[in-house]
Amino acid sequence: MRVLITGGAGFIGSHLNDRFLREGHRVVAMDNFITGSQDNIAHLAGNRDFEFIYHDVSNFIHVPGPVDAVLHFASPASPIDYLKYPIQTLKVGALGTHNALGLSRAKQARFLLASTSEVYGDPLVRPQNETYAGNVDPVGPRGVYDEAKRYAEALVMAYHRQHGMQTRIVRIFNTYGPRMRLDDGRVVPNFIGQAIRGEPLTVYGDGSQTRCFQYIDDLVEGIIRLLASDYVAPVNIGTTREISVKEFALIVNQAAGSKAGIEYSDGSRIEGDPQTRKPDTARAQSVLNWRPQIELEEGLERTIRYFRTVLSEPV
Ligand code: NAD
Ligand code: UDP
Repeated sequence: MRVLITGGAGFIGSHLNDRFLREGHRVVAMDNFITGSQDNIAHLAGNRDFEFIYHDVSNFIHVPGPVDAVLHFASPASPIDYLKYPIQTLKVGALGTHNALGLSRAKQARFLLASTSEVYGDPLVRPQNETYAGNVDPVGPRGVYDEAKRYAEALVMAYHRQHGMQTRIVRIFNTYGPRMRLDDGRVVPNFIGQAIRGEPLTVYGDGSQTRCFQYIDDLVEGIIRLLASDYVAPVNIGTTREISVKEFALIVNQAAGSKAGIEYSDGSRIEGDPQTRKPDTARAQSVLNWRPQIELEEGLERTIRYFRTVLSEPV
């Protein structure tokens, strides 16, 4: 296959590049570096099966030649990033998804949308399964991301229903691993960076809010299986080991060998921060025969190793 990966210089996109190339496919990565980095694709320079196109996908997308699959991953993803770029986030979710679908249709390519657990907002049910319609405040600060992704899902379904296109929607739950930006503001790079520097970990609010953290390789496996399946409705991909942010801080400090403890940083919590988030993954298990394989402790060890290298590099 020749696959187009929008957001291909981002954290998840760059791991998808590697996986498709390893399986013998050709990859075209497209990115405007708004939150991604050249560093994430530097190792692919000179690979004849890899092409990079610098482009903002909120503008018309042109890719010469055949394309068999389009994976639309372009979008700021960290709360700090999408609060910094609210309009770009709405545009890439709406116009970017429209352009990526248009290209996909013109090339008769299969289409996969990177959606998110944020479509459930601050959920009133736990765990969240794919039939739950969510609890989202459209005018709250997170609305720019949540509503963009909800609109994107609606657009994908419209292209499927109207044009009979082969579409897939993955609802990604918190994912971490090497190549996250150390300063992207998400809890994993924040905590690991602080732990490595011997600083206290900044726990927002009282730390009782929960998340489930999955390692990047498990997510990539789920995406590959979903793309290959014939399943059109959204599929949650995430782990079900639910822990509070406070508990997570203790685990990170232990894994990194830091004795600096934690500090409560009440004012830093973003309005609308979901109190709970846990996927129901029964659909992924039955449709894709997918289950996460990598334990949090193992994934954290790999990620801490990566961030130690990044932090030891001269700037
Ligand atoms: P990221 O910020 O590392 O990657 C996003 C990439 O998209 C960046 O390289 C950025 O430069 C690029 N981009 C953004 N707007 C663009 C535009 N208009 N044109 C071209 N490129 C653009 O974030 P990530 O964690 O890798 O997230 C990737 C995708 O997965 C996003 O769509 C995100 O919503 C989704 N997702 C991620 C998570 C997670 O836990 N990491 C969870 C749910 C959903
Ligand atoms: N968080 C925290 N300290 C930090 C960064 C984040 O306590 O330094 C909390 C944040 O308030 C949220 C959780 O960690 O409850 C996960 O935040 P993240 O930004 O990783 O993404 P989210 O899951 O909210 O999309």
